[in-house]
Amino acid sequence: MDEDGNIAIIGGVPGVGKTTVINKALELAKKENFEITTIVYGSVMMEIAKEDFNIDHRDQLRILPTESQKEIQRRAAFRIGERARGKVVLVDTHYTIKTGEGTFLQGIPQWVSDSLNPKLLVIIETYPKEIIQRREGDSSRKRDEDTADILFEHQLINKTVASTICQKTGALLSVIKNGHGKAAEAGKVLLLHLMSLKHD
Ligand code: ATP
Ligand code: MG
Repeated sequence: MDEDGNIAIIGGVPGVGKTTVINKALELAKKENFEITTIVYGSVMMEIAKEDFNIDHRDQLRILPTESQKEIQRRAAFRIGERARGKVVLVDTHYTIKTGEGTFLQGIPQWVSDSLNPKLLVIIETYPKEIIQRREGDSSRKRDEDTADILFEHQLINKTVASTICQKTGALLSVIKNGHGKAAEAGKVLLLHLMSLKHD
């Protein structure tokens, strides 16, 4: 393993099931005695936002001025890089974030990928209509009401962005389908791809 640790990034549009699939992979990893540390990028951003930007809920982050979001994002990447030393770390994040104006903010701009130095990029995806249903069925979070067309476009953009980061960093790319009722299967594939990092 790399002395700096092996960081995998996992992304996908809000509500696609990233956290669900990660939890399935963690359950399986426990049985295999394989240690994975998960870090939610947004939570580290929230630590910083609470400390210095007067924000107290994660869904408020994306309505901050873009420059403030970028500053918090940059500081979070540095903090995560520090925490990842000597470990296999899975960073739960977004490749792009749709802003209130409908533009797409980069989740992993170059200054973030430079700090994280990822070895694996994972994309979780499924059909737009399933994402709409998942968002509607999850009252614990406040997510945008996007159309199927917007979700299709957002997933395409995410895949393009993730491929570009892999091309620049040499990280492996993993595209995992999280079909309806198939989160456990998706978690199994995720664990397999994470375990392959340990041998590098
Ligand atoms: P966010 O980016 O906002 O954190 P997320 O991608 O982590 O979202 P989750 O919170 O894991 O998404 O899942 C959103 C909802 O979809 C939850 O109610 C979850 O139970 C449901 N869900 C996740 N995966 C599946 C699946 N394979 N089949 C059916 N429902 C699912
Ligand atoms: Mg999540």
